[in-house]
Amino acid sequence: MSLNFGRPQLSIPGPSIMPDRVLAAMHRPSPNIYAGALVELVDTLYPDLRTVAQTKHKLAIYISNGHGAWEAALKNTVKAGDKVLIIGTGKFPLTWGEMARSHGIETQVIDFGMQTDCDTEVLSQVLSKDTNNEIKAVLAVQTDTASSVKNNIPALRNAIDAADHDALFMVDCIASLGCDEYHMDDWGVDVTIAACQKGLMTPAGIAFVYFNEKAEDARKRVEPGEYWDWVLRTSSDIFYRQFDGTAPTHHLFGLREALDILVHEEGIKACWNRHATLSKAIWTAIDAWGLKGNLELNIPDSSKRSCAVTTLKTGAGEASQIRQWCEANAGLTLGIPLGFEGDDFDCHLRIGHMGHLNPPMVMGTLGTIETAMKALDIPHGETGLSAATQILANHH
Ligand SMILES: *Cc1c(COP(=O)(O)O)cnc(C)c1O
Repeated sequence: MSLNFGRPQLSIPGPSIMPDRVLAAMHRPSPNIYAGALVELVDTLYPDLRTVAQTKHKLAIYISNGHGAWEAALKNTVKAGDKVLIIGTGKFPLTWGEMARSHGIETQVIDFGMQTDCDTEVLSQVLSKDTNNEIKAVLAVQTDTASSVKNNIPALRNAIDAADHDALFMVDCIASLGCDEYHMDDWGVDVTIAACQKGLMTPAGIAFVYFNEKAEDARKRVEPGEYWDWVLRTSSDIFYRQFDGTAPTHHLFGLREALDILVHEEGIKACWNRHATLSKAIWTAIDAWGLKGNLELNIPDSSKRSCAVTTLKTGAGEASQIRQWCEANAGLTLGIPLGFEGDDFDCHLRIGHMGHLNPPMVMGTLGTIETAMKALDIPHGETGLSAATQILANHH
């Protein structure tokens, strides 16, 4: 008999759980888009969005998901026939590369597989060989949402500098913004890409491209077309022009509320810190479960793990059984595997832990996974939950 009652829990790596306050802020009639509350609200978003990415640079807001922001970033910086270098850590950078190819952009991919981050020596070597500066941009993710690996962004910057290469450095922070520590300016990132439905706790539909002066120079040699053009979006004082049409009205009210919570109440540093502790509690539980049976973390090196999502490996078929049990019997939805093929598919699952989360929510997810393993007779170590509570207890 199912225990699936009460509020369901969505522990997938995006969309994330929305705070009730964000939902409530959106619950209103359509606003005037030419004057009034909405128009006044938008100007207040930009400084807070800069704080979240730790930058003083410009940003364009698009009505799109993350894929739209990927396309916007490419359209404003490179053109058909140009070459970009893809830092292939996990699955998402490869998908971004496919999108680039669909625009006639040539891609060179360094594939690091599904279990580790970018080897910066290799990156430096590849760039050093590009003596004619054919590579116009280096495309990386901070967090790969499939493998749950996290790249060391300042180390990537250093590797580009060590090769004395002029390429633009573009970083996809769609999964990690508002979860993992990030400093666009201090870390020397030229273009940052993000979306609102993960760490920013707002329904999917708004995306962001931040760009510095070097990226503005790159923009001058390309023709992005009207809709994606970040110059049009950021140069007009007219609200309607900033969105190239009707603004995403209710999303903007929701985002305002989410940024109040994140930037003005919790504070971005405390938010990173909370994500670090909640992640560590999850990793510690998985390590303890793994003392018996087949469970293990997909990213062996803890310094290379994302604080927004955790991918774990199980014995054959166990991951699907756990997911299905949790969904049907307990109202907990876990993330399906991405980027793992064939036999590897059924032995991976993902836990999303981005955004609006606290210890009862995380312990609820962990406790439900452990319950599933008991119900399914999947062998596991017994101390997972108590190990996780010790991490939470040590938080300061
Ligand atoms: C979610 C995600 C995307 C894609 O975003 P959509 O909104 O689904 O288009 C791209 N990159 C990363 C790292 C992501 O986590």
